[in-house]
Amino acid sequence: MTAVDWEAVTGEAVDILSQYVRIQSVNPPGDETSAARFLADVLARDGIESTTYDAGNNRVNLAATLPGRDGLKPLTLLNHTDVVPVQEEYWSVEPFSGMVRDGQVWGRGALDMKGMGVMELLAMLLLKRQGIPLKRPLVFLAVADEEAGGAWGIEWLDQHHREVLDAEWVINEGSYGFLDLLGQDRPVFAFCPAEKTPLWLTLRARGPAGHGSVPRRDSAPVKLTRALARINDWQRETRILPVMEGFFSGLERNGILPSSTGPRDVPAVAAKNPSIGAMTSDTISLTTSTYGVKINVIPALAEATLDCRLLPDREPDEFIAELRRVIDDESVEIETIFVSPSGLSDMEGELVASMRSVTRELVEDSVLVPLISPGFTDSRTFRRRGIAAYGFVPALLRPEELATFHGHDERISIENLKLGTQVLYELALRLCGP
Ligand SMILES: [Zn+2]
Repeated sequence: MTAVDWEAVTGEAVDILSQYVRIQSVNPPGDETSAARFLADVLARDGIESTTYDAGNNRVNLAATLPGRDGLKPLTLLNHTDVVPVQEEYWSVEPFSGMVRDGQVWGRGALDMKGMGVMELLAMLLLKRQGIPLKRPLVFLAVADEEAGGAWGIEWLDQHHREVLDAEWVINEGSYGFLDLLGQDRPVFAFCPAEKTPLWLTLRARGPAGHGSVPRRDSAPVKLTRALARINDWQRETRILPVMEGFFSGLERNGILPSSTGPRDVPAVAAKNPSIGAMTSDTISLTTSTYGVKINVIPALAEATLDCRLLPDREPDEFIAELRRVIDDESVEIETIFVSPSGLSDMEGELVASMRSVTRELVEDSVLVPLISPGFTDSRTFRRRGIAAYGFVPALLRPEELATFHGHDERISIENLKLGTQVLYELALRLCGP
């Protein structure tokens, strides 16, 4: 095995990411075909063949495998090729230029998640170049449509090519590492074995229409706003599930939080970092509310949508029943638009142990903690099938970098591209290597 020239590899990662960002695979509509073709070309330059899975409508998924020899199930490096739209007027650079400036690669997808895709890609290319026979196969899986729920991506593969999803472990997006977590200098890597369950609801109130000059207590807008006010006042309990116990105790052991942080201390911690609040309770965001056509007309229908995210052990039906009690108005309808529970992957085991040793070796003094991802990812499709899937983007981000995720001026530092590639390469080598 020859030593890796990390300076050269980092330069290669920057070049590939910069070109990859220029492919505008914005979802909607997605159009991931060019992104898949680009990845296939990069793989082919090193003699790695890939297979594309065309879901139709210009939605293409791609998989490549370095074979193993022992009939073991693969380690799968999962990423998505689509990105969310931009509001260009708020950006200080052209969002699809892939510009390299101030030690960073700029552009939509740099963090979410073309940057991680490139780290995964290079981990595979490096293993291939080393020419070492693998015991366990390594799979690179790049899917379409993650940003719109995966109907043309992971869910389509699950229905039409189930074998592509078969794996011992999956590494995916879901959590970054942190610099400056809760104001502490210590580098913290995080992995998520679980995510919150998205539960998207529409509330609908109906009532008599009429003239604005004669108000009614039972009008649709009055009923809806009363329901929303009650939901807003609803105090939901803080619950620390075992994954988050691991999070808090890991931070306590390393002096990032005072010892024995319990549910009562969470509000103070969440005031500094709202994500931690979202990892320890069921949440509701009011996202849209629509009614009315004219100032002097009382409309017959009023609707609102709620983006609820439940802790993974919470039954959606039970939550809806409680919501009904809180609203306390039988006439307000609740319709479920989307719900997708996610299972829990093992918090220990060989993969997690390797994450721990690799991050510790590469970043002195670093800490690795589990957490529950407040958002949801394609990992849920694997967990549903009992496959261990982990959110683990091994990049250490400052709060101002994290804020660019789905936001403006999205970027990743060259240093993080290098670190992430090193971590994933080492992990793949230890888990799949000779
Ligand atoms: Zn993403």
